[in-house]
Amino acid sequence: MLTVKSFVFSPLQENTYIVHNENGECCIIDPGCYFGNERNELKEFLHESGLQPKYLLNTHCHLDHVFGNQFVHETYRLTLHLHELEKPVLDYAPTFGLDWGLPFDPYKGDLIFLRENGVLRLGNDQFVILLTPGHSPGSICFYCEAQQFIISGDVLFRESIGRSDFPGGDQQELERSIREKLYVLPDKVLVYPGHGPVTTIGFEKQNNPYVQPLHH
Ligand SMILES: [Zn+2]
Ligand SMILES: [Zn+2]
Repeated sequence: MLTVKSFVFSPLQENTYIVHNENGECCIIDPGCYFGNERNELKEFLHESGLQPKYLLNTHCHLDHVFGNQFVHETYRLTLHLHELEKPVLDYAPTFGLDWGLPFDPYKGDLIFLRENGVLRLGNDQFVILLTPGHSPGSICFYCEAQQFIISGDVLFRESIGRSDFPGGDQQELERSIREKLYVLPDKVLVYPGHGPVTTIGFEKQNNPYVQPLHH
């Protein structure tokens, strides 16, 4: 049984997720903690909850999702997991940080590449990796079918979608990812996005003003 805890971090208001099981094993997804107090908040939560971080995961590597990668790597000795197509985005993030006036310490560890439709296990639970490009070339979502929730990164938001005007973005590809990878999931699936509130697949199919399901 997995539990999802979220934090909103950095001036870019990014959602960082901790997903943990009843044995205290957890994944840290998109650690966007930028300031020292945000890093302390994350660390104290993990400590006080008695959680043991097992994985450092990125849905994609825009700077707001990777600010805390190096901090998590150093603090918990975790190796970053991401899709291979995000490597150039990860490499470029520190330059983006300088351009945006948000310099940060880049990730310096090894990389482990996650594959489309691969399975990531945390104890008795598992996520399937969905490849959902368009916002970023190697955007992935972590889908827990047994508990009907998905960590969607910046692909799908409540009544909105991710931007496609960053390098490697593609509007048509983004729409295709949402229709063919996300809108095919059951309506009740909870969506934990990279920004803003939680939503569901069914709510977005009904109400999303940018991408509607195709009707046959
Ligand atoms: Zn993004
Ligand atoms: Zn973002």
